[in-house]
Amino acid sequence: MAGNKRSDRFRERSPRDLNPITCSFCGRSRNEVEKMFKGKDDNYICDRCLTDSMEILKEERKERVKTGVRELPKPKELKSYLDQYVIGQDHAKKALAVAVYNHYKRIMTNRGDVTENREVELEKSNILLMGPTGSGKTLIAKTMAKFLDVPFAIADATTLTEAGYVGDDVENVLLRLIQNAADGDLDPESTKIDEVIARAEIGIIYLDEIDKIARKSESMSITRDVSGEGVQQALLKIIEGTISGVPAFGGRKHPQQRQLYIDTSNILFIVGGAFVGLEDIVKTRIGKKEIGFKSSGKDQPKEASEILREVIPHDLVKYGLIPELVGRLPINLALSELTNDELRRILVEPKNSIIRQYQKLMELEAIELVFTDEALDEIVRKTIERKSGARGLRAVIEGIMLDVMYNVPSMKNVKKCTISKEVITEGKEPMTA
Ligand code: ADP
Repeated sequence: MAGNKRSDRFRERSPRDLNPITCSFCGRSRNEVEKMFKGKDDNYICDRCLTDSMEILKEERKERVKTGVRELPKPKELKSYLDQYVIGQDHAKKALAVAVYNHYKRIMTNRGDVTENREVELEKSNILLMGPTGSGKTLIAKTMAKFLDVPFAIADATTLTEAGYVGDDVENVLLRLIQNAADGDLDPESTKIDEVIARAEIGIIYLDEIDKIARKSESMSITRDVSGEGVQQALLKIIEGTISGVPAFGGRKHPQQRQLYIDTSNILFIVGGAFVGLEDIVKTRIGKKEIGFKSSGKDQPKEASEILREVIPHDLVKYGLIPELVGRLPINLALSELTNDELRRILVEPKNSIIRQYQKLMELEAIELVFTDEALDEIVRKTIERKSGARGLRAVIEGIMLDVMYNVPSMKNVKKCTISKEVITEGKEPMTA
């Protein structure tokens, strides 16, 4: 059994063993150490070398926490990693790769040894992502955090309230990040808690639906809607950088509850929203100067994302974000609505694309799953009807695959299962072979 083999491998040599046993790393003999562990091919390691190795690993880990990422990937590397998972959105991916690189470079510089010559204190640049639902805003942020191996948390701005109102306190977003830094196993009493917090302090938070907490209109200042502006104010504090007390077990702040203190000044905030109607504000502003808002030379009206690229802070204030918050989001990026072609590519190209996931599932049943080109086109067509961007792809495929996943495992001698367009449009049985 594997278990026995393992204990055998690590078995201590008995004193009766006459062969001189030495540590393959430091050369000490069995008598000079407390314990000797046997590896493959008569190689040994002593307890001292094991402890030393652990120390080195710990130090490296500490160093990593200090600088964020051991070796900061260059913007080009960041972008090509994103390319493996996020289809299209080239401009946003490129700009985000640069922004994220600069963010971590800044942390390294501000914390590093180059302090004496530091004349310019680099400021944090949080990022605003504007784009339709299901266009990849969350995906880009999440993928970036995964590549950098930094803690990541997602929060929905609409569920947040200022302290004292019913809902989620803004601090709970930080708690989520700390929990992620602890790999989901947060123990506030642990001796490692400082290390966990230090890791969270260089994490990334994605705040979704920020546009939904906009003030209803710029002129509504007399009847300010509390939920919107109050939350923006509360968010502003953690976004600009503060030492925040976070209730260690979540929920409301309570004098008796243990608090964890976290410095948010190096946490990167990526804030996203669809900003429906913002392009009209931009158009109106530009329109005053340009007669006929058309693409350069062409007689085509500009796409929303093209217009949103011209956003200036005042447009966002007009939309209902408080000026202080806008000031803390200096990088504004617009994502485009995904085209049919991009939706189709999303089905098959990303490393963990939905189709690949289903193929993997069927592979476990020793069945090859194939989608015809027409079937893929039909899936895209149905997805577009849902108007939820690439988010709709999964729902559409799940609808199609339910019967297949139900029936196929019970079929005998099936090696291949082909999903044609008719399976989707006419509810036909998939072709099996
Ligand atoms: P949102 O822009 O609303 O934040 P998400 O990033 O949450 O959208 O996208 C929802 C899902 O749709 C993702 O989990 C992913 O599977 C898919 N998706 C969206 N955009 C893309 C894209 N550009 N490339 C690949 N997959 C995408």
